[in-house]
Amino acid sequence: MEKQLPYCNNRLSFSRLKTREVHVGSVAIGGMNPIRVQSMTTANTLDTSATAAEAMRIVDAGGEMVRITAPSIKEAQNLENIKDELRKNGYHVPLIADIHFTPNAAEVAAQIVEKVRINPGNYTDRKKFKVAEYSDKAYQEEVDKIRHRLIPLIKICKRNKTAIRIGVNHGSLSDRIMSRYGDTPLGMVESGLEFVQICEKEKFYDIILSMKSSNPLIMVHANRLLAAKMIESGRLYPIHLGVTESGEGEDGRIKSAVGIGTLLEDGIGDTIRVSLTEKPENEIPVAQTIVKRYIGKVNDKPISNNDLKSINPFEFKRRETNPVTNIGGKNPPRIIINLSRITNIKPSDLSPLGYDLLQNKWQISDQGTDYIFVGKQSLNFSLPDQIGIIQIADAWQPKPKHFPMFSLNEFFKSNQKSEELNFIKIEFSKIDEKLFRKINREKSIVLVLTSKINDNLHKYHNFIFELIRQKITTPIIIKNDYSKFDSNLLLLNSSIDIGALLTDGLIDGMWLESNQSPNIINQTSFGILQATRTRITKTEYISCPSCGRTQFYLPEVTAQIRSKTEHLKGIKIGIMGCIVNGPGEMADADYGYVGTGNGTITLYKGQEVIRKNIPSENAVEELFELIKEHGDWVERSA
Ligand code: SF4
Repeated sequence: MEKQLPYCNNRLSFSRLKTREVHVGSVAIGGMNPIRVQSMTTANTLDTSATAAEAMRIVDAGGEMVRITAPSIKEAQNLENIKDELRKNGYHVPLIADIHFTPNAAEVAAQIVEKVRINPGNYTDRKKFKVAEYSDKAYQEEVDKIRHRLIPLIKICKRNKTAIRIGVNHGSLSDRIMSRYGDTPLGMVESGLEFVQICEKEKFYDIILSMKSSNPLIMVHANRLLAAKMIESGRLYPIHLGVTESGEGEDGRIKSAVGIGTLLEDGIGDTIRVSLTEKPENEIPVAQTIVKRYIGKVNDKPISNNDLKSINPFEFKRRETNPVTNIGGKNPPRIIINLSRITNIKPSDLSPLGYDLLQNKWQISDQGTDYIFVGKQSLNFSLPDQIGIIQIADAWQPKPKHFPMFSLNEFFKSNQKSEELNFIKIEFSKIDEKLFRKINREKSIVLVLTSKINDNLHKYHNFIFELIRQKITTPIIIKNDYSKFDSNLLLLNSSIDIGALLTDGLIDGMWLESNQSPNIINQTSFGILQATRTRITKTEYISCPSCGRTQFYLPEVTAQIRSKTEHLKGIKIGIMGCIVNGPGEMADADYGYVGTGNGTITLYKGQEVIRKNIPSENAVEELFELIKEHGDWVERSA
């Protein structure tokens, strides 16, 4: 049923969804205003000068709004001092109070700041991690309780022209919502829309909505569903995008770019926050780089009819393809890296790609590249079994693990082809229906789809939807050229371009062309597969960005934990600043390290508390012990 709903203007061309314009102080969000970027302070909100200093650094970096946590009335009251301090220093940035569990704090904050963020999962409902059965009557009674609790805040916001963000987090859905909808994108959307209906009944419309998750796929599906429901109702409020607890460094950036970028490409999203477990001002340039792709971008003309039936945009399903050796079918997406610029490729050139030749034996990491493109070269050393070599068809000679790459014409004219696997490089402009059918008959073909421009997601959609429509099952690898980009732009742009296609299950592999080192290209490629959860090759860290509730230095602890656990492929470790939101936010994690107070930590296995309030000095080591006790530890290979 859900999949019939349109959720964007057009999947096959860029077109921004026009939402209602909402003012947050001097900043207008939604409508056709630019996509706004924001961040959140991490200092204790009671420390006025530290919080104001962080807010100023966020603004200096280009942040257009600053969020500050207000866990209780005391912090909410101190927002006044922080605001004064900022104004005294000439900073007139709109402030947002972040509220969980404390409607009283929201009501105080709403009289001071320009926007209040509330979480429907915990504004009045509670999450006790047990799914109770709710009768219709009990369910309705709780909704009435919310109404009763929310109306005073709405009245204050109306009086003070304060906006409200209804910010749903996948990890903190209430037991009531869970009982009816489960832990699903639909549950997230319904949880937010309940609050919207209460606001609308009070004729309050300065609403912004967000649907966040640490899993980019869930975040994408929830936001699409939200957009669909709002289109259906005819009332489109601005949407704030973010991937929660995305972590630090490259992984955090990739996860955010995949989730946020996929939606911005759909035309969904009016303001974004990139959450990183780093200094808050570090988030701004990342957010700006993502947003820059859309500055001045006008809505394209549709390429063809909006074919929403080609895929279900609200859940992950991989396009059905026939397996060709280890590509397509049920195989994980594959990675190709170009080494053709190296003359005389030696075994040591494979080292940055995860293959080390030690005493005549190949040591292979979990992140070993699947195929290398060598141009016309031939490799004269014995290769590890896991790697394939791609040669230009002219130079190809049948040899184990060596496969040719043709143009379309060359392939159909050639009488020397591989019986197992032939790559065909193709630009989508050069294909027609007859060729589609011819290609479909050949079960040894993998298409390497490329285009001269990178910003071509909608053209790729157009092409692949056509394949789906014609029931063509040839696997597809996308080859994009990022040669003009530095490593940061490579990482963010490829995460959006390729990540969006992987998120929709449309492709079977990736080939990033870049002047960066093979090691960087390999890491970026595997990072994108990990973020889209299409191929897990390393430990997953779900670490919160920290805020005024955190009582330890999260980036340092995250780095300590990472340094000892990054070889534990497939394990998810949550590192959370506070007990209030941490357990909910890391709902997906296998193990959790959660701050519980000054100098104390609680350790979790899944959602179960295993060691409560232990001193922080021992907590990292005890976490490792816990992982060992549960049999998930392996020693690092030498
Ligand atoms: S989980 Fe982290 S960011 Fe979220 S409220 Fe707690 S300390 Fe703040």
